[in-house]
Formats: sequence, structure tokens, C-alpha cells
Amino acid sequence: MTDIQVYLKTYDGPPLRLMEVCGTHTAQISRCGIAGMLSPAIRLISGPGCPVCVTVTAYIDRLVALCMEPENVVVSFGDMLRVPGSSQSLNDAKAAGGHVEMVYSPLDTLKLAANDPGRTYIFAAVGFETTAPVYAMLLEEAVARGISNVKILTSLKTMPPVIDWICQNQGGVDGFLAPGHVSVITGSNIFQPLSEKYGLPFAVAGFEGPQILAAIYALVRKRGSACVMNLYPGAVTKEGNQTAQKMVEKYFSPCDASWRGMGIIPDSGLLLREEYSRFDAGSKNLNGDHGANAHCRCAQVLTGAISPNECPLFGSACTPQTPQGACMVSMEGSCFNYFTNMRKR
Ligand code: SF4
Repeated sequence: MTDIQVYLKTYDGPPLRLMEVCGTHTAQISRCGIAGMLSPAIRLISGPGCPVCVTVTAYIDRLVALCMEPENVVVSFGDMLRVPGSSQSLNDAKAAGGHVEMVYSPLDTLKLAANDPGRTYIFAAVGFETTAPVYAMLLEEAVARGISNVKILTSLKTMPPVIDWICQNQGGVDGFLAPGHVSVITGSNIFQPLSEKYGLPFAVAGFEGPQILAAIYALVRKRGSACVMNLYPGAVTKEGNQTAQKMVEKYFSPCDASWRGMGIIPDSGLLLREEYSRFDAGSKNLNGDHGANAHCRCAQVLTGAISPNECPLFGSACTPQTPQGACMVSMEGSCFNYFTNMRKR
């Protein structure tokens, strides 16, 4: 055992709740069994870090409606296809005759559209600051190549406003494992105002088990103090990737956005700028959040209010084969990771 492991296993200070807000961290913490390496006084909780999970039902319903129109094809990453809407997932719609294509990169949409000019290809643009630059590149390419039958339906979200929401409405968090991928784009400075506002430590972490343990150690040592620690300096700078930031600013502007379980959070989303609205497939006012299964408790899971295994459907009606909510669909979802790796706390 390293000194850090011994410290974290034998810690007997005040009880701490540390939140990760990145789906890749959630998955990695689960895979590596990191919760089991900690003292009972240190509890890890998952926050709203999985982009698929925080996407509201109204957005899925809109995609389902779009794919049923003969002139449209909805294009998406694979995990979005299984997320339940209020009555159907995209997979259900496809089985019923809807036009849905799965791709590995949003840029694949360009080739599909160029080969089929009679239909409009609509990409399901879900994600955080990390993926927003890729959607900007998609539009940049579409403009440059004169491809006019590409659109996006946006449910893009930004991280600082939702962390602010968690601190104001949920509370009980003693430190944040700040998202590494988001920080590559935004820079670590973006968390400084939140750290100072709430007097909390933030640790930007990489994704290997030892890197996550080091970040947890740093948060425990700095408990009760306002600071932002960049423990992923090989990839993250204070200012972030300014080329990517400029590209995003060119196409998108901040907007109020609807989050599963949290409602509308001011200025927490990105919408196409007016001059590029011809690429928008109808992204405004997609606010409904009523899932097909009224007993699904994704809303509480996403805010760290409960652990996935406190949901009455967990592991019985809801499994990765029979997901009742988005958190069991995505490989970055808390419920999926609890189920597959049985993270205990
Ligand atoms: Fe929703 Fe299933 Fe998670 Fe329960 S276990 S909160 S039903 S996704």
C-alpha cells in the first residue's frame, strides 16, 4: 500500500462527502473499486456528470418525432438510442419504421448527408463543454462544403452552473472531483469562482485509478478550504484550449437549459446563435422530464441525493438489459456502474 492509500483507508477525521461530476470518473471509480479503498468516513457520490443521463425526456421525444418524418434521419451515438422517452426510445422508433443511424463521430453525419441530399440528417447533439467543439467543427465543415441538409438538435450543457445548483439546492458536498475532460477545454480556472463562493476544494483529476486516489487525497487534506488544484497538468491548463473555446463561441451562445431532476438552470446550456439557426432542428423549450416509469429515481441519483441501489427498481425491474431510466443506459451512468461493478457506497 502507498502512503496515500494508507491515509485514505485509515482517515478518522470529520465525515466527508466528495462528489465526482464526470461520467468517466464515475465509471473508473466503480471499475477500480475505489470506494472500497476509503475509510467509512469518506463517501463518494456521483453528480450530474453523465451527459446522456441529464438529458430530459422531452428531448428524446423530440428526436423520436423527428425520425418518424419521412424527410428526416436522426443520427446519434449508440447510448442515446436506448434512453427511454415518455413512451418510446429511438430504438423503439426505429423498429416502428423511424429513420435512425448510429455513428461513432458527429462528423460522420456529413458523409451520410452528402450521399443523400433529399433528406435532412439531424445529429442528436448531447454533451458538455468537451463535445461542444466537435459540434462546432461539424457545422464549420457543413458551411465550408456547402452541405445544407445537416442540422443538430442541441441539448448541450455547461458544468459550472450545475455545480452551483448542486451547492445551492443539494448541499452536503465537501469537495468536488472536477471533470478532467471538461477542464481540458475550459481550463481549471473556471472552477475558481465556485470554490471561493462555497469555500470548497476542487481537484481536477485524470482518469487512472492512482490519479483519482491522489485527487481524493488532495480533497481530504484541503477540506474546508477554497482552492482549485490541477492534478492533471499534462492535459489541463489554467486557461484551457482557447482555440476550441473560440470555435464554440462562434456557433453557440449560452441559454437556460433543462436538466433531468433539476429543472431549468439559467445559462447552463448552449444554443445555436441566431445567424446559424438554419442548422437548428427545434432545440428551444424542450423542458418536459416525465419518464415512462414513474418510479424511476434518476432525478435523485443525478443530484447525489440517493445511491442507485436505493431506487426500488434497481437490479429488479431496472437492469442494463431492461433500463427504466437514462442512468442505467449509459456506460457513464451511476446506475449502470453500480449494477455492473456493485459499488457499495
Ligand atoms: Fe432509474 Fe433504473 Fe436508476 Fe432506478 S435504477 S434510478 S429506475 S435508471
